[in-house]
Amino acid sequence: MTRSAADDFKLLVEAIADPLVACDGQERIVHLTPPAERLLGWTNEELRGRPFTLLVPQRLHHVDGCPLFHYLLDRQPLRGGCPMLLPLQRRGGEELLLEVTAGRAGQDEHQRLVLSLRRVPESPSFTPEPFAQDVSLQLWHDGHASATRPFSAADRLYQAIIENAPLGILHFDKTPVITLCNDYFVRIIGSSKRLLIGLNLLTLRDEQIMSCVRATLTGQHTYYEGNYASVTAQKVTPVRVHFAPCYDEHGQLNGGIGIIEDVTVQRRMEEERATQSALVDTLLRTAPIGMAFLDSHLRYVRVNDMLARMNGKPADEHIGCRPREILGPGGTKLEQVLQDVLETGKPLEHLEMNSRDFYEDGPVHHWASSLYPVRGKDGRLLGIGAIVEDITERKAAEQERARLYREAQEAIRVRDDFLTVASHELKTPLTPLSLRLASLERRLEQGEPADPSSLRHARQHLLRLTALINDLLDASRIESGGLALHPQPTRLDALTEHVIRVTEGTHGAEHRIAFHPSSTPLQVLGDPYRLEQVIANLLENALKYSPDGGTIDVALEPRDELALLSVRDPGIGIPADQQQHLFERYFRARNVSTHSYGGLGLGLYICRDIVERHGGRIWVESEVGRGSTFYVALPTLQQKQGSLEQASEHSVH
Ligand code: ADP
Repeated sequence: MTRSAADDFKLLVEAIADPLVACDGQERIVHLTPPAERLLGWTNEELRGRPFTLLVPQRLHHVDGCPLFHYLLDRQPLRGGCPMLLPLQRRGGEELLLEVTAGRAGQDEHQRLVLSLRRVPESPSFTPEPFAQDVSLQLWHDGHASATRPFSAADRLYQAIIENAPLGILHFDKTPVITLCNDYFVRIIGSSKRLLIGLNLLTLRDEQIMSCVRATLTGQHTYYEGNYASVTAQKVTPVRVHFAPCYDEHGQLNGGIGIIEDVTVQRRMEEERATQSALVDTLLRTAPIGMAFLDSHLRYVRVNDMLARMNGKPADEHIGCRPREILGPGGTKLEQVLQDVLETGKPLEHLEMNSRDFYEDGPVHHWASSLYPVRGKDGRLLGIGAIVEDITERKAAEQERARLYREAQEAIRVRDDFLTVASHELKTPLTPLSLRLASLERRLEQGEPADPSSLRHARQHLLRLTALINDLLDASRIESGGLALHPQPTRLDALTEHVIRVTEGTHGAEHRIAFHPSSTPLQVLGDPYRLEQVIANLLENALKYSPDGGTIDVALEPRDELALLSVRDPGIGIPADQQQHLFERYFRARNVSTHSYGGLGLGLYICRDIVERHGGRIWVESEVGRGSTFYVALPTLQQKQGSLEQASEHSVH
């Protein structure tokens, strides 16, 4: 062949994409195409002129007693040109499983033997040859197989296990090129087996994987977890990989394996779990009710914001602590209750506690707790769940409701009592009045003169009736906005004296009324009619509640800028606990009913209203069985001037 013809041949073979190895008739290598150089790890220059067997594992130099190349050439036509599976040796000794097609061209010294190589595709296009099964299996043995080694049942089992393992498995040599992988790995990566076998792991884009492989080739076990992005399949797969080094029979590291787990489902489950957990977490944290979980040693494991607020400590500070460490000595009581729940395994609901169980001071808070055992799926007791509700407001509302109910009941009772008393009081003067009038009528019919004492008595009963009705009207006026007042400068001493005179005239002789006037005249700005009503009422009560007669002392004296009127009687007195209620509407002291004195319980109520609207004050000092003294203090005219002028604008008519 001329030089130009050789160049042409070279150009021709280099244009072929599949790796080619060309040899001369003596099976010496003449040329390697660049893909073949890359595949086998040798350069053209290094191999030119060297025997073809350099590329063939020792055990396959002869097959069936025939040199390998000749065996291939002889078999090729019989196989109809189908490729055969043959392991070739890369530089360094690693074996590479390839589909090969052998061809021959030229004669004698120009004879060329050509071997076309192809990586093993996913669907093999070769038919098994004796060496094909032998070489494919030797890879499962980490390169330790020999030509003499039989293809055992154990080998088949081993292969079956790897092919059917629910994990991706790959083997790589020292270079590190993938020499073998199972279908699961192919599925995970999403490439074809043909592309994966022979792929150099150091050409991957993922630096993390590459550093794992490098470390594995120094004898370490390495682990990778991440999203593997396949360049060829445009596919991203979340994977977890364990890389382990492999050794030959001399203990020399000759590559490694990778065990790949597709963690897509786990990832999805983890994400779902994380979402669920975030959801539960948010619910727990923001729930408007206190919640906690304590482990079986009664230590807080989770505490939500609301409970943390109730306990007055941040949620984080609870974790790992027992209740007594958070709530102080009072927490011991709670721990006992929690321990009971743990021991009995029975929930405890609506347990009421209040802040006094834990703290001595501070505002009182009430809580209702439900404590229940929490078990795992296997029924094992994990701890206690606690739900705590702040029921302070509810309690307060309940108490308020109870108070209002009591008051309403009391008001109904008072009203009923009043109606009974009022009807009785109104009826009492009617009977004698009617009798007096009947007797008067009889006398007049019989032509007898009218008895003036009968007429006087009849008139007194009428006056009594009128007074009762006036009291009722006054009380209702007070309730609906106040009595009409017509203030004017009034001499209190003269007014008192007048009332005493009138009273003496209408009452029997069993009482004496002693008046102790002030040394100087006392003038107030007031409604004389209403002030007279006050003095008369006090005087009448003094007489009424002093059944054994005696002296009623009425005194009037100046006290600073006040006029102080007192009415003292030697009567039945008023129990101490009743005195504060005397001036309430319808109130009648307990000891009155036992003595059966008539009255509606309105007089003092009206008195207080009149006195207070004059800017004054009314009160009593009394002792049961020894009598009572009622006091009325009114501002004298000079003092009163200013305040009454103000008050008169809206309350004086
Ligand atoms: P009434 O006398 O019509 O019952 P009052 O309002 O005038 O109503 O008095 C209220 C209550 O105060 C009386 O029912 C009585 O129990 C008590 N009270 C008033 N004055 C005296 C008094 N001088 N001595 C004892 N108790 C009195």
